[in-house]
Amino acid sequence: MKKIALSLLTVSLLAGFCAGLAGCDIGTSSRSEIKIGGKTMGTFYNITVIGDYPGGQDQLRHEAEEVLDSINKEISFFDRNSELSRFNQHRSTEPFKVSQDVADVVIASIRAGQELHGAVDVTVGPLVNLWGFGHVKPETLPPVPDDNAINAARKRVGLDKLHVIVGYNSAQLKKDNPQLEVDLSTVGEGFGADKLAELMDRRGIQNYMVSVAGAIRTKGLNSRGKDWVVAIEHPTTEQAVGQRLEIPVCTKGQAISTSGSYRNYKIDEKTGTRLSHIIDPATGKPITHHTVSITVVGPTALWTDAIDTGLMVMGSDEALRYANERSMAIYTIVKEGNEFKSHYSKAMQQYLVCD
Ligand code: FAD
Repeated sequence: MKKIALSLLTVSLLAGFCAGLAGCDIGTSSRSEIKIGGKTMGTFYNITVIGDYPGGQDQLRHEAEEVLDSINKEISFFDRNSELSRFNQHRSTEPFKVSQDVADVVIASIRAGQELHGAVDVTVGPLVNLWGFGHVKPETLPPVPDDNAINAARKRVGLDKLHVIVGYNSAQLKKDNPQLEVDLSTVGEGFGADKLAELMDRRGIQNYMVSVAGAIRTKGLNSRGKDWVVAIEHPTTEQAVGQRLEIPVCTKGQAISTSGSYRNYKIDEKTGTRLSHIIDPATGKPITHHTVSITVVGPTALWTDAIDTGLMVMGSDEALRYANERSMAIYTIVKEGNEFKSHYSKAMQQYLVCD
C-alpha cells in the first residue's frame, strides 16, 4: 500500500496471517507448510501453502511471480507500456484490442460500479491525479484544486463512457471520450490475489492463503487444521498510540479485503481538513466523513476489493444499511469523537466466531 503520509495516531488496519496475533488459535504446526513472499505492484505478496507444491518452493515462487508479472504487463497504470496504459494513451473513440484478462477485470469493475451507483468508478483517474494521489507529481499541482479544474476533470470521468466489446476469441475496450482513462489501482490487488488462487487451484493445492497487500484469498485449513484467520487491527483511542485491538476474522474459505482512509491522505493546510486518496465520483472531491476503514468478506478478492472502496465512499452508516439489505459481510471502523468504534453487518457475524 502506498503511503502519502502515515500518522501514528491514526487507525492502522493490517490484514495479515494469524501467527502472532491476539485472539488467534496459535499452536505448533502439525502439517508442513511452504511460505513465500515478495514485491509486486508497488506493494507485496504472500503465499502460504499447506503440504507440498509440485516442484517445491522455488517452483512456487517462479510460477507466482510469472502470474504477477503478467498482471503488471496487463493492467499497471504505472507501466507506460502495459495494455491498460496503451488503452489510456489511445486518444480515440475507436475500439482498442485487449486480452481477455483486461476485459474481465474491466467488466467486473464496471459491474461493481453499477451495483454501488457509481461510488466505485475506475475512470476516476483524472480526479485522483488532480488531488495529487495519482501518477502526476503532487508538487506540480495546487494543494487544493479549484472548482473549474474539478469540473473539467469530471468531464473525462464516468463508467457510462467506457464499454467492453467481447466477441468470439477477442475483446476490445472503447471510450466515448478520447480523454477517458482507466485506473484499476483499486481492484488490481484483488485481481492479483484471485489469479494466485487460480494458480493454486490449477496445481491441485487444497489448503492455502494468498495475498497481494490487503487483498486475501483462502482455501481449506491452515497448518493446525483450523480455519484461516485474518486480523483486523484497530486502535482503542487516539491517545493510545500502539494499543490496538486485533479482531480475528475466520475466513471460511472466502476472500477478504479492506479499504482505509488512514494511510494515504494529505492535509489541506488552509482548513486543516484531511484529504483522503479515495475520491467521491459524485462530488469529484476526497471523502471527508469519519469512516476510517471498511473490510469486506466475499467470494472473490476482485469483488471485495472493488466493493470496499465504493462502501468507503458511502461511509459506515450507508454502507451498513446497503450491506444488510444484501446480506453482505462488512466490518467498519469509525472515528467517533476521540475513539474508534467498530460496527458490522449481520452477515459478518459468522466470520467473527471461529469454529
Ligand atoms: P484502494 O484503497 O483499494 O483504492 C484507492 C485507489 O483507487 C486510489 O489511490 C485511486 O487510485 C483509486 N480511487 C480513488 N477513489 C476511487 C473510486 N471512488 N473508485 C475507484 N477508484 C478510486 N504503485 C507504485 O507506487 N509503483 C508501482 O510500480 C505500482 N504498480 C502497480 C501495478 C498494478 C498492476 C497495480 C494494480 C497497482 C500498482 N501500484 C503501483 C499501485 C499500488 O500498489 C496500489 O494498488 C495503489 O496505490 C492503490 O492501493 P490501495 O490499497 O491504497 O487502494
